[in-house]
Amino acid sequence: MAMKSKVLIVGGTGYLGKRLVKASLAQGHETFVLHREEIGVDIEKVQMLLSFKQQGAHLVIGSFNDHQSLVKVLKLVDVVICAISGVHIRSHQILLQLKLVDAIKEAGNVKRFLPSEFGTDPARMENAMEPGRVTFDDKMVVRRATEEAGIPFTYISANCFAGYFLGGLCQPGFILPSREQVRLLGDGNQKAIYVDEDDIATYSIKTIDDPRTLNKTVYIRPPQNILSQREVVQIWEKLIGKELLKSSISEQEFLAIMKEQDYAEQVGLTHYYHVCYEGCLANFEIGDGAEEASKLYPEVKYTTVEEYMTRYL
Ligand code: NDP
Repeated sequence: MAMKSKVLIVGGTGYLGKRLVKASLAQGHETFVLHREEIGVDIEKVQMLLSFKQQGAHLVIGSFNDHQSLVKVLKLVDVVICAISGVHIRSHQILLQLKLVDAIKEAGNVKRFLPSEFGTDPARMENAMEPGRVTFDDKMVVRRATEEAGIPFTYISANCFAGYFLGGLCQPGFILPSREQVRLLGDGNQKAIYVDEDDIATYSIKTIDDPRTLNKTVYIRPPQNILSQREVVQIWEKLIGKELLKSSISEQEFLAIMKEQDYAEQVGLTHYYHVCYEGCLANFEIGDGAEEASKLYPEVKYTTVEEYMTRYL
């Protein structure tokens, strides 16, 4: 059997990053986690890094401000997965990856790079609205730099993180489902795709040694999880044995409210707009040059929306 790649996770202390570390270890990869000195006295992050070490990961010191330190770390591995922050209401550092791309180019040994994407496919969002398009534009800048440097890549389009979208019954600003009411975005009938974050990590790690995913976009579309907001609400209503009081917010109202918010909020709302009013995640067929994760890896028993939502009971 071929040797499993050695993996470096950058952003391993993050919301998705910690799951990538776990999945990489679970799938038997020698796993390295970048330990940035800049985390200083952030005790939670340090404790998390130490727990990775206890589970068998190697902590490696490097800094985005020190090119050679990154090159040195990269020489130890075959695959780099970056999960640096990209949600404006938390933190958005997507373009910092250009430094990582430079270091990967110099190191010269990296066989696969998965940049911090894990959402809507930015290549499909050239007509996205301001200001939220910044997320897609920045991710495209990183893609171009990666491809110009000749670095082999896989782009993961993970659709909606379940924690954000199912937790809030697809309503921006909510991450816990109400037992009383819900506001539908428009008619609530646009389909979106919801993926358990641990499944995103599992599928992502599956791609790294797979020749079928080399230089391709991999969409994660678990077939049972392609649902409209109304269908998500119905699943929740079934679980709690009660119908929610429903109201609706029109597209015009949504856009008017959005304009009154601060920049970071507007970025997030733009993304909800494209997903929930336009159906940007599910309104296209996966074409040539791309793959779908649940078809490539039928052995993964993904979490269905209903299973995911039982955690809120
Ligand atoms: P987090 O906000 O949890 O941050 C991840 C990591 O980024 C941090 O732990 C830190 O890593 C690193 N980081 C932050 N600032 C800096 C800095 N200045 N220098 C170096 N590293 C820094 O990220 P998420 O998990 O929320 O996001 C990861 C990806 O997932 C993004 O691309 C985002 O757009 C996407 N996403 C998609 C969603 C969807 O629904 N599809 C929802 C949420 C995110 P460390 O300290 O370990 O070095």
